[in-house]
Amino acid sequence: MSIPHPPRRLGSLAALALSLALILCLAACSPQPNALAPLDVYVLNVGKADAIIVGCGGQWMLVDAGLEETSGYVTAAMRALNIDSLTCAVATHPDKDHIGGMSAAIRAIPTRRLYEPPMRLDNKPSRAMRDALSQTGTPSSTVRSGDSWMLGDAGVHVIAPGKAALELNSENEASLVLMITHGSKRILLEADAQSVSENEMLSVYDDLRADVLKVAHHGSDKSTGEAFLAAVNPSIAVISTGERADGKDSDALPAPSTLSRLKSIGAAVYRTDVDGDIHIHSDGETITVAAE
Ligand SMILES: [Zn+2]
Repeated sequence: MSIPHPPRRLGSLAALALSLALILCLAACSPQPNALAPLDVYVLNVGKADAIIVGCGGQWMLVDAGLEETSGYVTAAMRALNIDSLTCAVATHPDKDHIGGMSAAIRAIPTRRLYEPPMRLDNKPSRAMRDALSQTGTPSSTVRSGDSWMLGDAGVHVIAPGKAALELNSENEASLVLMITHGSKRILLEADAQSVSENEMLSVYDDLRADVLKVAHHGSDKSTGEAFLAAVNPSIAVISTGERADGKDSDALPAPSTLSRLKSIGAAVYRTDVDGDIHIHSDGETITVAAE
């Protein structure tokens, strides 16, 4: 299966020829008729947890919301970006370090739709999230490998979980993995996917290349396998880790073996525990990273 080419306002060979003709006529005009709205991805420093804000063309998506303990930080970050509504929120999987803050986020910022994997748990953060959805009238949809939607000029492609990952009944393996395409650039958000899901993505998708990889499962050794990393081959890797905000930090991540695999492919590694909030910016042709 192929991930569709990045969305373009003029996408065919005919459109390319038309664009070339237009360039001759409109060289002095600005902005260019098919310039992409920039894409911004903020990986927030919420400790060993995930909370990621994605924006493109005035549309916003929240991918996970960290633990309940850091929900104020996530909401403040959205307010600082002047986000007054979310096009969508994504609950990658029902673990509290990903959805613990989702209830507060949905209550604070009007959200048009929540996407989640076809796996539900009856745990405390899931119940709080369902209460927030029903009390705010926010609809939710179940998505899996093969689903996609647009966020401004960016494409959001769900490439996991597939059948094999879901059959395990494991929260981490059921993680929604998102390939964001923007012009010629691709950013892969892996949530907490592990080896079964990584191997399934390798067998289903013939091109997993991405410029940026949000490393799976806070840098755990159970993810980011050699074959998967070789297929993605990111020049930039981002790890969301640190102390657990609820004080229940049983094992320190990232694992040294994950760091050495990232080093062996020459990826520049950014870590929220070292660099703070990490801001990735794409204009569709170039990606820049800033630690803030
Ligand atoms: Zn996690």
